[in-house]
Amino acid sequence: MTEITTAPQPRTVVVTGAGTGIGRATARAFAAQGAHVLAVGRRTAPLQETAAEPGAGAITPFAADVTEEDAPERIVVAALEATGRLDVLVNNAGIVCAESLGDYTRESIDTQLATNLTAPVLLTQAALPALQQAPAGGVIVNVSTSIGQRAWPGNSLYAATKTALELLTRSWAVDLAPHGIRVAAVAPGAIDTPIGEHRGLGPEQLRAIREWQIAHTPLGRIGRPEEVAWAIVSLAAPEASFVTGTVLPVDGGAVLA
Ligand code: NAD
Repeated sequence: MTEITTAPQPRTVVVTGAGTGIGRATARAFAAQGAHVLAVGRRTAPLQETAAEPGAGAITPFAADVTEEDAPERIVVAALEATGRLDVLVNNAGIVCAESLGDYTRESIDTQLATNLTAPVLLTQAALPALQQAPAGGVIVNVSTSIGQRAWPGNSLYAATKTALELLTRSWAVDLAPHGIRVAAVAPGAIDTPIGEHRGLGPEQLRAIREWQIAHTPLGRIGRPEEVAWAIVSLAAPEASFVTGTVLPVDGGAVLA
């Protein structure tokens, strides 16, 4: 008798902050492997640009501000409406509002916490029922930062949000293991993305920061978004089935130096 084998169905992946930088590279890397990607961001135009290179899979732009109250539910519903499943959630959207302690305002604190911490928590919570149903087990990958593991004078609140995200990563790995969901994080070092421009820095400031970063990175250069995307896709791969709670530095050795 001939055995009938069916090809595994493509996975569905949600990537937040997918209009630029690491999120765009990650959406494209998953799509290159044949996944359906819901590319989430605030503005449609950059998301459409991300989707212009879909690879073997498909990238669907989805405009949503992750800090809005109804965003978690809208995002999960959109993923399920598109493909009926959700396999991987990448909590990538993040902002830097670098200020020294004396300059913080309630508004700048709230904005940074809402984007970098509250949004990933609520989106993960909304995604849990669908992730539990993922045929090969659901995966959550959070995007942290490398330097925050030491100290970050002048940018302590950003570093604190990312350090908290790493603690959530380890805690959720234990909480969600019985539900067949793995949780991991990447901790990028200096990566060539528009994050500095999004923070409002000018060309001179950006150049000075880049020089400092290269001098403090043992591999002696800035990383590429694709190098972080590779790490995210690898942590989410079915072959990483025994990896959970891991925070993987992708930083050219910066955290060691
Ligand atoms: P980026 O600014 O290009 O990407 C962040 C994306 O998130 C942007 O597209 C932005 O529009 C989106 N975003 C911000 N707030 C949002 C919101 N409320 N709703 C929806 N989308 C929102 O910079 P990036 O470097 O690609 O950053 C991606 C992640 O990597 C961030 O979490 C950042 O903290 C982290 N990171 C970056 C570096 C680096 O050197 N570039 C280093 C360490 C960690």
